[in-house]
Amino acid sequence: MIGGGPAGLMAAEMLAEHGISVDLYDAMPSAGRKFLMAGRGGLNITHTDPPEKFLARYGARAPRIAPLLAGFGPDELRAWVHRLGIKTFVGTSGRVFPAEMKAAPLLRAWLHRLRGAGVRFHMRHRWQGLEQADHGIRLSFATPEGDKEARADVVVLALGGGSWPKLGADAAWLPVLQSLGIAIAPLRPANCGFDTDWSEHFRTRFAGQPVKRVAIDGRQGEFVVTAAGVEGSLVYALSAGLRDAIEAEGSVTVALDLVPEREPARLAEALSRPRGNASLANHLRKTIGLTGAKAGLLRELAKPEDLASPARIAKAIKSLPLRLLRPRPLAEAISTAGGVAFEALDERLMLRALPGVFCAGEMLDWEAPTGGYLLTACFAGGRAAGLGAAAWLGRQARPSSRSSMNSSARL
Ligand SMILES: Cc1cc2nc3c(=O)[nH]c(=O)nc-3n(C[C@H](O)[C@H](O)[C@H](O)COP(=O)(O)OP(=O)(O)OC[C@H]3O[C@@H](n4cnc5c(N)ncnc54)[C@H](O)[C@@H]3O)c2cc1C
Repeated sequence: MIGGGPAGLMAAEMLAEHGISVDLYDAMPSAGRKFLMAGRGGLNITHTDPPEKFLARYGARAPRIAPLLAGFGPDELRAWVHRLGIKTFVGTSGRVFPAEMKAAPLLRAWLHRLRGAGVRFHMRHRWQGLEQADHGIRLSFATPEGDKEARADVVVLALGGGSWPKLGADAAWLPVLQSLGIAIAPLRPANCGFDTDWSEHFRTRFAGQPVKRVAIDGRQGEFVVTAAGVEGSLVYALSAGLRDAIEAEGSVTVALDLVPEREPARLAEALSRPRGNASLANHLRKTIGLTGAKAGLLRELAKPEDLASPARIAKAIKSLPLRLLRPRPLAEAISTAGGVAFEALDERLMLRALPGVFCAGEMLDWEAPTGGYLLTACFAGGRAAGLGAAAWLGRQARPSSRSSMNSSARL
């Protein structure tokens, strides 16, 4: 096993359950760093969407993810978490979280169980490449003690995407696999923020401020104004389409509704109340409660003529043009689109060009919104790759056996 994130650990578990001796290598000093980071803001492990809706979250790759979820879907994932002694609960939006919302207790219990099952962890081992040899697969690693080699009968690569590279997944695997003839779709940011061209005045006053209860292109939610543009849950939810539109058109202009709960006619009516000597800012505040960053966005994005009458102001508030120039860099994104093409893999997630080498997790060419869909597919893919690798070795399930066999897997 190479890669100690959720996908790699799950593959390791499957192999160990089949009585296969597992060595797990990871470049970082400890396993599951991104998983732990995911737990910082509340570990959204999966979702209670009905199956069809759940699958639709994977967009064009839904047919590729379907068989993985058929083997290990949201219900199986929750049951698996429960077997680790961690309770789960369903949040208001149907999102599923472990008790206490954190990843650390789950990861701790899981690593303990894996060690108990005989999985050996080799940290600070940065995988550099592999080569098919006469007796298995030769792997090379860079370690603090210098370069090392290892041999395995089967290998699972679960190296993650390219976001938040400080947590370990830095996509250095991409040129290595490319040089071995593996088809890889370019890596792109997913669940990411976007740059826009705020005026200096707006940027200085409002960067860092949340903008709640708004709608972008008809979808309600909230976002955060950043120095460079916008980020946050509503932006992430729309990000795949926005990114694709920018790639096709050079930029994209979305319609921002600052008061989605009110009809334009009602807004115009309220704004028609006598203004007297009040400034526009005061009038907006008194009549429709528009203040802070929302009022700032109106000033920033509306043309002067849009503010000429109550009806025009109401119209502008309901549909401000916000031009997005480019997604934020991959390193800042929550997740990665692109990766190892499914066409390069067989149905067990083995690389067709490299028999005995399997791939799983975020390094594959799929993407999904936040909401637990990312982790669910990583766990499901890790399980499929682990089972595929075990089947490749021709093993029968021997759930309680320790590793007394000759076969070995490197993850
Ligand atoms: C801030 C943040 C919050 C998130 N929140 C959620 C959430 O709430 N719900 C959700 O579903 N998803 C969430 N995600 C996404 C989720 O964490 C990832 O999709 C998931 O961790 C990917 O799992 P993975 O096993 O494929 O890769 P990773 O977890 O990235 O693990 C890959 C491992 O491979 C190792 N590695 C990489 N290259 C090498 C190499 N050359 N040699 C050796 N080892 C290597 C890395 O060190 C790492 O340990 C979040 C992500 C971020 C950044």
